[in-house]
Amino acid sequence: MFDRLALIGVGLIGSSIAHAVRKHGLASEIVATARSAETRETVARLGLADRVTETAAEAVEGADLIILCAPVGVFSALGAEIGPKLAPGAILTDVGSVKSAVVNDLSPHLPDHAHLVPGHPVAGTEESGPEAGFAELFEDRWCILTPPAGTDTKATDTLKDFWEALGSRVEIMEPGHHDLVLAITSHVPHLIAYNIVGTAADLEEVTQSEVIKFSAGGFRDFTRIAASDPTMWRDVFLNNKDAVLEMLGRFSEDLTALQRAIRWDDGDALYTLFSRTREIRRNIVEAGQDSPAPDFGRTHGQDD
Ligand code: NAP
Repeated sequence: MFDRLALIGVGLIGSSIAHAVRKHGLASEIVATARSAETRETVARLGLADRVTETAAEAVEGADLIILCAPVGVFSALGAEIGPKLAPGAILTDVGSVKSAVVNDLSPHLPDHAHLVPGHPVAGTEESGPEAGFAELFEDRWCILTPPAGTDTKATDTLKDFWEALGSRVEIMEPGHHDLVLAITSHVPHLIAYNIVGTAADLEEVTQSEVIKFSAGGFRDFTRIAASDPTMWRDVFLNNKDAVLEMLGRFSEDLTALQRAIRWDDGDALYTLFSRTREIRRNIVEAGQDSPAPDFGRTHGQDD
């Protein structure tokens, strides 16, 4: 499908793309780079790329597909570095979790002869780094493409074919709408998880060892999300401020309503909400976006 794929950043997502591209034979050559010499050495050792370069500018030379797989906070600097090196007809895309900021950061550096088609595979785990990736990460998951107005439709179609070949389902969306949808489905849930784990860690009347010991009551499911990469998530919140603050405002109002329902013994209000939310979980399972196995498929010992 492509002669030369350049991966800028090879963590969980970049290494998963490398594995999947190899598995499905989608590029003749993979060239990769990362910020640190340590990661570049790991990439070479794992054979994730045919060539590893020291700089992003070297990596993109002659590439017909370039995928930025670094935290979104460095995209503007990366755009300035690689923009002048992009080959005629090259497609520049990314996997960043926010999209309006990415369009704003990359567009000014794009030469007329290249195409910018930002993307976001809605797939991931709490792991990070080049050893965390696996080829199946994108299978049956959605990938959202957010081409800015005026983007060459052929470039968008080619990228859609690429993600479908990796096993994803593809949806095209306006960048601002993507940011609003993901604020409520991903960004705010992560903030809630970071917050509740932080609150538990700060409690003085309850000891740390009790929090850990009795975590199966629900807390540990938040800790999985709260173990996500700190750099990546700092950049997500700083680059999707408006949508996250909008959704947090609504969340706080609804939380206040729940507080009031508890205070005034309004069991009906609590029961009605909890029934609606149970239905959402059913819909997610029915849509194939999670396993129907109880407790996320954890196996339980006899005394659990
Ligand atoms: P990660 O595992 O932490 O990997 C990030 C990679 O980017 C590392 O290889 C890092 O190199 C490299 N990097 C950082 N700054 C760089 C720079 N200036 N130039 C070149 N490479 C640089 O992160 P990830 O989870 O794969 O996430 C990568 C992107 O995917 C982020 O934009 C994130 O928003 C998006 N995303 C993540 C998920 C998820 O669940 N994790 C899901 C969907 C989308 P070093 O190791 O040398 O620092």
